Amino acid sequence: MTEPAQYPDLVDRIVNLSKRRGFIFPSAEIYGGFRSTYDYGPLGVLLLRNVKDAWWRSMVQLRDDVVGIDAAILSSPRIWEASGHLANFTDPLVDCRNCHERWRADKIEGTCPNCGSADLTEPRAFNLMFKTYAGPVEDEATVAYLRPETAQGMFVNFMNVLTTTRKKPPFGIAQVGKSFRNEITPQNFVFRTREFEQMEMEYFVPPAEADTWFHYWLEERMRWYLDLGIPADQLRLRHHDADELSHYSAATADVEFLFPWGWDELEGIANRTDYDLKAHAAHSGERLEYFDQASGERYVPYVIEPAAGATRTMMAFLLAAYREDEVGGERRTVLALDPRLAPYQVAVLPLSKNDALVPLSREVLGLLQPVAVCDFDVTQSIGRRYRRQDEVGTPFCVTVDFESLEDRAVTVRHRDTTEQVRVPIDRVAQEIAQRLRP
Ligand code: ATP
Repeated sequence: MTEPAQYPDLVDRIVNLSKRRGFIFPSAEIYGGFRSTYDYGPLGVLLLRNVKDAWWRSMVQLRDDVVGIDAAILSSPRIWEASGHLANFTDPLVDCRNCHERWRADKIEGTCPNCGSADLTEPRAFNLMFKTYAGPVEDEATVAYLRPETAQGMFVNFMNVLTTTRKKPPFGIAQVGKSFRNEITPQNFVFRTREFEQMEMEYFVPPAEADTWFHYWLEERMRWYLDLGIPADQLRLRHHDADELSHYSAATADVEFLFPWGWDELEGIANRTDYDLKAHAAHSGERLEYFDQASGERYVPYVIEPAAGATRTMMAFLLAAYREDEVGGERRTVLALDPRLAPYQVAVLPLSKNDALVPLSREVLGLLQPVAVCDFDVTQSIGRRYRRQDEVGTPFCVTVDFESLEDRAVTVRHRDTTEQVRVPIDRVAQEIAQRLRP
């Protein structure tokens, strides 16, 4: 198979494939689009859900020390005052005096990327939070913010979770959901958008153990991406220098992916110390601490936070999976997605539209649907239908032909090798189920 590095226009190809096959559409397209927002189509919701489910499975389901929450998106200004976001969650904004475009000063090199002019204003702090009003009156008392990260939901619910689950440090609270940032320059398709999804976990630990757990989570998170098929030479950890650290952080490292434009962040893993719990305790007047009944000790836990972007990670999986190759003298596009991520895991394909094949094909579909997400496609030649499934990453095609009516067996075709094997209908669900879980 051809290596992805061979496609200089890879982002364009992914944007094009996403639109053509129903992964991601520009939002409000019939009105000319709306400010770098995107809608996830039938295949996109499946892929994005699989990314989030794979994260949840690894971070919550397969552990006994992490629980989940789903906090409100619309949130009190008091949260953001305490967290420091009202004062500090800003990017340096510059205006080009020549063409009047606006840029994030830390992402450009002294000249306007639009017109090339070096006549830029001094940078000024621009707060990235979306402000709105909760209720019919638009005044200071009703100000609310759309959350710019999911993390604060875990801090403000720390005592609720502690008392209802009876967990003790080290333990974590996980959340997956939308966040909103009024990015100055959204860019690179869904890499940077104003509305996006995050997958974050706050892991509360005894302060003395913070460094050990920080390194534990660096390894765990790297393993997750590699296990789901990001090639090792396109993934790295980058430790932040002391002058790059956020105001709350004692140590941070980014998981970076080699995007077509260079290395860029997929996830930040930070030792947030006891900054957030202490800040919320001070602002709310509540005690946010752990009392260890056995030792009689009372302390504010340190927090290790792996914070990933679901939508951005989905884009990385698409980029890493894209291939073009040739089978039987015909070029094809393949998304070599891990079967756990592929939107459809199986496509059931009657060899032809012939009436005799459809009832048995539907029977096979009924057997497979409980174990896999299935597509059912009857139109066009079988070769064309295989290509269509390859292009969206479906790992298995199950073809029902005229022989199937005699021998009650079907052909299972594998996406990557195009190898085909005959499998009895009675065993097909079990076989596919086994091959879907590594
Ligand atoms: P950046 O420096 O790129 O603006 P950040 O370091 O502020 O990002 P975090 O606050 O650490 O990002 O957010 C955690 C994760 O959330 C990021 O690693 C990224 O995957 C995702 N994320 C953050 N902002 C966006 C965005 N505007 N669009 C898509 N995903 C985002």
